[in-house]
Amino acid sequence: MDEFALIATYFAGDDGARVGIGDDAAIIDVPPGEQLAIAVDTIVDGRHFPPGTPASAIGHRALAVNLSDLAATGARPRWYTLALTLPTADEAFLHEFSCALRALGRRFGCALIGGDTTRGPLTVTVQAMGLVRGEGLRRAGAQPGDRVYVGRELGDAAAGLADVQRGRLQTPLAQRFLLPEPQVELGQRLLGIANAAIDVSDGLLADLAHVARQSGVGAEVDWHRLPVSTELVEAVGEHRARELALTGGDDYALCFTAPASADVAELAGCTEIGRIVDGDAVTVLDERGRAMAQRADGYRHF
Ligand code: ADP
Ligand code: MG
Repeated sequence: MDEFALIATYFAGDDGARVGIGDDAAIIDVPPGEQLAIAVDTIVDGRHFPPGTPASAIGHRALAVNLSDLAATGARPRWYTLALTLPTADEAFLHEFSCALRALGRRFGCALIGGDTTRGPLTVTVQAMGLVRGEGLRRAGAQPGDRVYVGRELGDAAAGLADVQRGRLQTPLAQRFLLPEPQVELGQRLLGIANAAIDVSDGLLADLAHVARQSGVGAEVDWHRLPVSTELVEAVGEHRARELALTGGDDYALCFTAPASADVAELAGCTEIGRIVDGDAVTVLDERGRAMAQRADGYRHF
């Protein structure tokens, strides 16, 4: 199968661009009063997913991580491009990969409008574009006194990666690693409510530290409030589950801060986990409000 047949078979354009796949450049309309939000991420075989990862999970993840970045800005996803480097034109791989990628795009109203196809070690770059009114959500903007929230339970994906590495792909935790769900609707609902937002890709503490640094504030996280799933607690125990919630990656949940007066009650699934404070440190507090220490072997009371 030559390059052009491959593009026509697996990556024929979705409706969405004024000029899309098949021309030299895609042309899109940005409505007056809206801003274009743009995110790009590359995933590389062996680095971002372990050997044995199904093609469907690679296709899903390539777009999902970008939709998650758009979600953290409050944007509505609209378009994406795909730069695909493949060792061979393996049709079984291409079928599975493209079906999962495109199903996720359709689910979020995000159209494939162009790309590039080359030969080489498997590497997938997706650039996603969305529309947002006004300023959108930023990492900077958290204020002392804000409450800190997360959009859903954390830590599952880190435990799921361990399952995938052991060849156990069907566990609920493995599925959470393989098929991350971007919190797109939540991001849009946070416009006008949140002062700052980020998506949790590298672990809550690392990502909340970005918010703190870029906002010029500190943060406190209450250990006992960290939301963890029953599957995770069953698999690794409650203490380890909370450690994974703090430091595990690949969750793609949103973390945001909002004033104490904000109406977050109707944001289903969100949990208050702490507060923004003066200073520059991100600390974890135990049930009595004492700082906990992070050691090589995990979290301990002083
Ligand atoms: P050019 O040589 O002008 O860059 P290409 O031959 O790379 O054109 O691509 C031809 C058309 O196919 C372009 O519209 C491009 O956007 C689209 N395209 C190429 N690869 C992909 C892909 N993997 N997914 C979606 N569209 C693609
Ligand atoms: Mg090209």
